Amino acid sequence: LVGIKQAGLQEIYFGGDDPLLASTGVAGVYGRSGAFERVVGGLFRALARLRPGGAEVRDFPPVMSRAHLEACGYARQFPHLAAAVHTLMPVEEEGRQDHTASGQATDLVLTPAACYPLYPLLGKRGAIPQAGVIFDTRCYCFRREPSERADRLQAFRMQEFVCVGPERVALTFRNLWIPKMQSFADSLGLESSLVPAKDPFFGRMAPYLAQSQLDQGLKFELVCPVASARHETAVFSFNYHQDHFGLAWGLRDTQGITSHSACVGTGIDRLAMALFRAHGPEVGRWPAFVVRALGLN
Ligand code: 5GP
Ligand code: ZN
Repeated sequence: LVGIKQAGLQEIYFGGDDPLLASTGVAGVYGRSGAFERVVGGLFRALARLRPGGAEVRDFPPVMSRAHLEACGYARQFPHLAAAVHTLMPVEEEGRQDHTASGQATDLVLTPAACYPLYPLLGKRGAIPQAGVIFDTRCYCFRREPSERADRLQAFRMQEFVCVGPERVALTFRNLWIPKMQSFADSLGLESSLVPAKDPFFGRMAPYLAQSQLDQGLKFELVCPVASARHETAVFSFNYHQDHFGLAWGLRDTQGITSHSACVGTGIDRLAMALFRAHGPEVGRWPAFVVRALGLN
C-alpha cells in the first residue's frame, strides 16, 4: 500500500492497488479484500472460543420479517435507519409502466442488529429457564447511514452474545461481559476505553429517550481508534434492554415473570479495521501475540 503515513489513515483501508475495502460506488458499501477477510475469519474463531458453554448458535441472513421488526418498536424508534425490501416490479399507472417507482413492498426488512431475529423465535419455545438462556448470534446488518468515513458502513457484520432470563441474570450477564471484552481487546493489542452510550433515536422524544438510556446506564461501549487516530469509535456495545423484548414477545420465566434481556455486540468490520489501523496493513508484520490470538499463524 502506498503512502499510508502521508495520505492519512483512510488510505490503510481504501488506498493502494490492493485496498482492504474496495469502493462499490456507494458510500459505506465496500468489497472486502482477502487480507481483510482472513482477519475477519480469525475474529469469528476467537469469538467462538469466548462463547459461554451451553450457548446456542444462530447465524441469521441479512433479511428478517418486517412484522417482527415493527412489533419490537424498531420501525418507530429508528425509522431513519431501517430499510425495507421492495421488488423492482414496475408500477402500472394509467396504462403505462413506471420503472422509477419503488416497486412492490415485501414482507422483508434488512436486519439492523444480530439479536433482533432471535427474540421472536424464543417466544415460541415456552418458559425461559430461571438460569436464563444464552445465544451466540451473527448477521450481516444494514443501517441507512451513508458516510465516506471508514468507521460508518451501511452494511457490516455484527456478532452478539445474548442473554434472556430473569432481571438479575440478564443484568449480571451484561456487566460480566464488559471486562471480558476489555481483556479480548487487550489480547488483540487494542487500547480501548469504556464509555456510557446512547442509541440514535428518531423524532421529538429522541433527546428524552437517549437521556433516560444514559441515566439508567442501559448502554456502554468500548471505543478505540478505527478511522483515525484522533477519533474513537464503538467496536463493542453492552446493552441491557430491561423487559423491552420480553414484553414485545411474551417471554416469561417458569414463574410467569416477564424476562429481561441483554446483548453484547461486536462490530466485526470495525474491529478488523481497528486491527489494521493499530498494527499496519501487513498481517505478516503484526505482533506475534495478536497473530496467535487470531489463530493466523
Ligand atoms: P449498536 O447496536 O450498539 O449500535 O451496534 C452494535 C455494534 O455494531 C457496534 O458496537 C459497532 O461495533 C457495530 N456498528 C454499529 N454501527 C456500525 C457502522 O455504521 N459500521 C460498522 N462497521 N459497524 C457498526
Ligand atoms: Zn443486540
